[in-house]
Amino acid sequence: MYSYKEEDINHERADDIDGIEFISLNFDADEIVGDNIHENYANQISINQFISEARKEAKPHKCYYCGQKTIGFCNSHSIPAFCLRNIALNGKVYYANNFINIPGCDTQGGINKTGTFHLLCRKCDSIIFQEYENPKNYEKIPTSIMLSQIAMKNHLKNIAKRRVENILYKKMKKNFPHFNDLCDYHIRGTELDLEEYTNDYRKAKSANIKKI
Ligand SMILES: [Zn+2]
Repeated sequence: MYSYKEEDINHERADDIDGIEFISLNFDADEIVGDNIHENYANQISINQFISEARKEAKPHKCYYCGQKTIGFCNSHSIPAFCLRNIALNGKVYYANNFINIPGCDTQGGINKTGTFHLLCRKCDSIIFQEYENPKNYEKIPTSIMLSQIAMKNHLKNIAKRRVENILYKKMKKNFPHFNDLCDYHIRGTELDLEEYTNDYRKAKSANIKKI
């Protein structure tokens, strides 16, 4: 595994890391920075507002595990936070976009915003992943309980992601009618994914309950 050196700390792009070559989509500098920095900034704010509204609307009213009504959803990590702390640099981890550099998308973020989902009440989050979130269990061969908990987290993360995307495409359809067909295609895709991920989550949950 690559270990960070002191001089990497000031580097903003992962392609600066010695000995590792990353692919790039080769956007021109003006596409990345923008000809007009103010316009770019304004665009970024409106995109962020759009995504933030979709995230709010995508929040469920009930905990995905116990089914109880809740307003205070837990900031659950798909990968345990203690694992992320081991690879973080100054409290931040690199996103995949650090390698491909899509304009307008973040290249790194804090541990509390990385790989998270908001579908569970705090009580459930603190109970149902205990085997996966105990570092002592990593010295042994993973048990079937741990595997079912990993599966639950992965499916919940995907469910949360598709819920937001579904709302985003619906909002896009409303605001930009000329993208109607494209939006319908993606709305249907996110709904099919949601059905599949939800079924798989239920199977993992059932396996976890049977073995606890
Ligand atoms: Zn719950």
